Amino acid sequence: MAATTGPTVLWLQGAGCTGCSVSFLNRISPSAPATAADVLMQTVNLAYHPTLMGASGELAVAQARRAYDAGGYILCVEGGVPTAFGGNTCLAWTVQGKATTFQQAVMDYSARAAQVISIGTCASFGGVAAAPPNPTGVKGVSAVTLKKTLNISGCPPHPDWIVWAIASLLTNSVGPLDCFNRPVALYGKTVHEACWRIGNFRAGKFATAYGQDNLCLSKLGCHGPQTQSACPATGWNNMANWCVDANATCLGCTSPAFPFSAIRRSTNAHESD
Ligand code: SF4
Repeated sequence: MAATTGPTVLWLQGAGCTGCSVSFLNRISPSAPATAADVLMQTVNLAYHPTLMGASGELAVAQARRAYDAGGYILCVEGGVPTAFGGNTCLAWTVQGKATTFQQAVMDYSARAAQVISIGTCASFGGVAAAPPNPTGVKGVSAVTLKKTLNISGCPPHPDWIVWAIASLLTNSVGPLDCFNRPVALYGKTVHEACWRIGNFRAGKFATAYGQDNLCLSKLGCHGPQTQSACPATGWNNMANWCVDANATCLGCTSPAFPFSAIRRSTNAHESD
């Protein structure tokens, strides 16, 4: 599966749902690389990915280890990092009967990486995996390594954002970051600013129930005004749709406080009905 040329990428998966990888696999773009397969086969040398690589078991781990020894790779981390119980609630792999916790793998592999990308809100900030009461002590990657990561938040992040992050790191063109270490190019605007329903927001025309086309969803608990994300511009599923287009409120899934903030706002909206 791995390309023989191109920068080496390792992708670790921890406390998450694999949705970020699934989102990445949905990449369909008019510009190259057009698909996730193009990224993996022609752009980067994917040395390790628990669910995409052909090798498995200790053979797969040996591939990761070779990349680790060479150093200088891009480390993509998907999922939060469980830290309670010595990290033993989430194992990265087992070699000759000796288990390595995901926490230890993230610590070790980030130390020799040229760049670390936190893919998704769980890796960036803890996300759903760290929602209260968080018995396994899940944290975001940088909170564990105490090193800066490039955070591509979203639950999941758009495939184009993931590819953009990898490509921009390779060309040294990420540009400025916001206070949560997310690229301003992707997270510089709120969903609300770019939402096509904002005219109805300004006119005070609000939906009071789901399914009322075109009306602003603010009173149903829309998180658009508090959420920095490029969703209105990039759309989803090859621009077919996105949450607000589908008459669903923005849940704020790119935000550091997600999902707790979304639950609270949604509850408040319904209590004020
Ligand atoms: Fe803003 Fe949400 Fe209303 Fe769109 S639907 S204008 S994002 S509050």
